[in-house]
Amino acid sequence: MIIHKNFIDGKWVKSSSGKTFESINPATGKTIGCFQSGNERDVNNAVLVAETAFKKWSDVPAPKRGEILFHAAHLLRKEKERLAQLVTKEMGKVVYEARGDVQEAIDITEYMAGEGRRLFGHTTKSELRDKFAMTIKRPVGVCGLISPWNFPIAIPAWKIMPALICGNTVVFKPASDAPLSAIEFVKILIKAGVPKGVLNLITGPGSTVGMPIVKHKKIPCISFTGSRETGETILKEAGVKKIGLELGGKNGIIIMDDADLNLAIDGVLWGAFGTTGQRCTATSRAMVHRKVKRKFERKLVDRTKKLRVDNGLKSSTDVGPLINLSAVEKTHMYVDIGRFEGAKLLCGGERPKGKGFFYKPTIFTNVTSDMRIAKEEIFGPVLSIIEIKNLDEAIDIMNGIEYGLSSAIYTKNMKNAFNAIDRIETGLTYVNSSTIGSEVHLPFGGVKKTGSTREAGIEGINEFSETKTVYFDYSGRLQKAQIDVVR
Ligand code: NDP
Repeated sequence: MIIHKNFIDGKWVKSSSGKTFESINPATGKTIGCFQSGNERDVNNAVLVAETAFKKWSDVPAPKRGEILFHAAHLLRKEKERLAQLVTKEMGKVVYEARGDVQEAIDITEYMAGEGRRLFGHTTKSELRDKFAMTIKRPVGVCGLISPWNFPIAIPAWKIMPALICGNTVVFKPASDAPLSAIEFVKILIKAGVPKGVLNLITGPGSTVGMPIVKHKKIPCISFTGSRETGETILKEAGVKKIGLELGGKNGIIIMDDADLNLAIDGVLWGAFGTTGQRCTATSRAMVHRKVKRKFERKLVDRTKKLRVDNGLKSSTDVGPLINLSAVEKTHMYVDIGRFEGAKLLCGGERPKGKGFFYKPTIFTNVTSDMRIAKEEIFGPVLSIIEIKNLDEAIDIMNGIEYGLSSAIYTKNMKNAFNAIDRIETGLTYVNSSTIGSEVHLPFGGVKKTGSTREAGIEGINEFSETKTVYFDYSGRLQKAQIDVVR
């Protein structure tokens, strides 16, 4: 079996821990490879070289850094199919979705490469004469990037590309359930010309690699996507730093009585069962108007039962496996909780026979907003249907949880749509489309316990840069803002 290494200071090196771990294919149980189980010493080494590399890299003109990213996008495009197949083998998503994962990385790489020729600050008028005022962007320093397994190419790209274009250097820890995708991704960036020391990768557990990154005094910027629990720990342990957190959601779709029901069902199926429900934007609640609920349920259950659950590499598969056994157990635990709380199971609720971490797409109805299955993130293929009598009630339910990432409404009524846009407390709202799927040139992120970061788009630059305010006084005398009176 191949033993993969860490990437520090431009070299592939073993961890000083002497330990390794394996990553396995969730559809077959077969081992994908063996990886370094990194430790604090590896992190210290990586931070040291990243700090040294920062001086040179931050001095490279941003358009030149952009050229390297454009080249990386070109290489990613060439390797798209190979990477997509690897993503499916390593974390299970259906291969056409895996192609989307890689495409998202290509898109953000091109977008951020273009930022090399922007990185805009702004100018404004001074309140005093003969004085010029503006803002400029500066890099932050060494960025600690910690990513999850559900988008093993796209999420690292969402973090690494803006970090690099802004002139930062990186210490990157990928999820232990998808380290090979991260390694192959980093290899492409190295091939594209990212200089040594600028991008460093350490595999291994959150406790021995992630936490030392979070606490490291020479890392002024952390960007994390993952569970709320880990996010809260990071917030406690990091100290005063720039911290970006994206901590998932409990996303809902409102279906009004005037909705195009077939369109809404397409959206709910894709939102709830795409990526086997393992998206931070997955649809896990459908708030359905009582006038259309029965018809909606009948059609939805019919379509759900036809979904083929199998290895994501097969072209006939609709729903792949969950990431690992503990995800299967967590999903099933929530199914038991739903039954216990009095919700009615319409379909699914069990593992199919055979190997692999599969779980049948599951729908509960008669769910009430106070049930745990209506409030907590399951991260599996489980949908809760909640009956609503009007939009006000739907919005109250939508907002009555701790998360605030994504939301959607299906309606033909403009007033309903704009009411929802205005009043729903989430970072994203879709009208007549599902809760999942975002475009890289628009900001992405949530409110409340989801975290307040915005990644991608122009706001993605803010996560990895500092804004400096510059005053240039050419009056030749001491002018005092707020004190001198200008006439
Ligand atoms: P985690 O939050 O545990 O893992 C995400 C990343 O953080 C991984 O790289 C992980 O490393 C690392 N990590 C874990 N503990 C620490 C720590 N103490 N300090 C620093 N880094 C740490 O999520 P899981 O992968 O375990 O998934 C559990 C649940 O999290 C899911 O069921 C889902 O609810 C949610 N989740 C949300 C995601 C989102 O998109 N918002 C994505 C993934 C999960 P390692 O892999 O080595 O443990």
